[in-house]
Amino acid sequence: MSMDLRGKTIVAEWTWTGSRFSRDVAVRVGADGRIELVGPAGPSSPHDARDPQRIDLPGCALLPGFVNAHSHAFQRGLRGTPQRFESGSGDFWTWRHTMYRLAESLAVDSFYTHSRRAFEEMLSAGITAVGEFHYLHHAGDGSVDPWVFDDAILAAARDVGIRICLIQCYYATGAIGQPLQGAQKRFGPVSRDEFLRQMDRLANKLDSRTQSLAVACHSIRAVDLPDLKYFRDFAAAHNWPFHIHVEEARKEIDDCVAVHGAGPMATLLREIRIDPRVTAIHCTHSTRQDLREYIARGGMVCLCPITEGNLSDGFPDLPFILEEDGAVCFGTDSNIRISATEELRWMEFGQRARRETRGIVTDQHGSCAAGLIEIGTRNGARSLGLSAGAIIAGNRADLVAIDVNHALMLGCEDDAIADSLLFGCGNCPISRVWVGGVECWSR
Ligand SMILES: [Zn+2]
Repeated sequence: MSMDLRGKTIVAEWTWTGSRFSRDVAVRVGADGRIELVGPAGPSSPHDARDPQRIDLPGCALLPGFVNAHSHAFQRGLRGTPQRFESGSGDFWTWRHTMYRLAESLAVDSFYTHSRRAFEEMLSAGITAVGEFHYLHHAGDGSVDPWVFDDAILAAARDVGIRICLIQCYYATGAIGQPLQGAQKRFGPVSRDEFLRQMDRLANKLDSRTQSLAVACHSIRAVDLPDLKYFRDFAAAHNWPFHIHVEEARKEIDDCVAVHGAGPMATLLREIRIDPRVTAIHCTHSTRQDLREYIARGGMVCLCPITEGNLSDGFPDLPFILEEDGAVCFGTDSNIRISATEELRWMEFGQRARRETRGIVTDQHGSCAAGLIEIGTRNGARSLGLSAGAIIAGNRADLVAIDVNHALMLGCEDDAIADSLLFGCGNCPISRVWVGGVECWSR
C-alpha cells in the first residue's frame, strides 16, 4: 500500500543524521511535503508511540534520497548495445557515433519511453532528484513545436514522480567554429533569442513542487566564447545553476588549445565567472593548477565513474580535488547502469586501483561510507540548487527506506549499515522512495 508521509511523523529504526545512522529519530513532514521537524522519538518526546499520525518503520534505515547531478536520460536507449569492437578497439568518439545514431532515430514517443525508463530506474536506485542535462531538443520531423522533446522530458519525470532540475543546454557548434552536422542539428537552437524564449516558456510551465531550471553550455566545443559568457551571465542573473562538460577526452583539450590558446578549464577560468553555482562535469584530464584555481573560486566537480569507465575516459585526479576541499557530486550520465551505490563505490574503487591506497573519499572521521553519502546526497543538491540531500527541517521530504533485513544486509547494524549499503549492495535493499513526502516507488 502506498504510504503518504505528508502530515505524518515517521520513525524509522535508523535515520541518517548527516554522518551516521542514529536510532529513535522522529521526522515530521508537513502538508507541503517539506520536513518540519527532526527530533528525538523517545517516550518523553511529542512523537510518542500513541501519536495517531506517527508511522513506525521497523527494520528500515531512512536515508535522504540520492541526487543524480548529471544525466542524459534518452541514452538509456543504448542499453544493450553490443560492446563489440570489430576494428580492434573503441573510445569516447566511436561511442559518440553510436549515441548520435540513437539521437537521430528518436521520435517523441521513443524519446519519452527511454527517458521514463531511466527515471523509473533512478527511483528504484534511491535517486529522488535528477539533474537532466538536456540537449536533445528537436524531433527533426517538422513538428509544430520544435522544442517537443523539452515537454517530453518534463512529462517523463512528472509521470514517474522524480524531482527534476531541467538543465536546459545550449548547443550551437559541432566542433569549435564548425557548424552542426547530422544528429547535432537536433541539439542546436536556431538562435540565442529562440533559446531565451524557450527558457521563458519553460519557466512559466514548471511545477515548482518538483521541477526547476538550470542552464548549460554543452562544452567548449559546442559554443563560441561570446555565447559561453552570455549564458553564464544569464544563469547568474536568474540565480540558476550553470553546468558544462569539461575535459572528458584529450582531443577536446588539443582542439581548444589550438583555437583558444588554452585548454577548456583554463578557458573557462579566463572567460567566465566561476562560483559555487558552477558545476564542471568530468574534469578527467584537468591539470592541478587549473583545478586549484577552479576550486578556490568555488566551482563544483561532477564525476560519473560508470560512464567514465564505459567510455574509457580515464580517472580524474579525485584525491587532489578533495585535498583542495573541492565539492564533488555524482551523475549517472549515459545511464548504461543506474545505481547510486555503484557510482559512489567506483568513485572510491577507481582511485584505489590506480593508487594502491584505500580510503580516498572519507569524511572528517575517516568514514568512507559517510564521505560517499555526502557526495551522493548533499553535494548533488547543492549543485542543482535544491533544498534536499539532508534530513533537516526545511528540506523537501525526499527520502529512501532501506530494508536492513534484506539478505544482502543481514548481520549489519548501526554504523555497518552505511558501509554494507555502499560497498556490498546495488539497488536491491531499497524498499520505498518518497519525493516531497509522496511515495513514488516501492519494491
Ligand atoms: Zn554528460
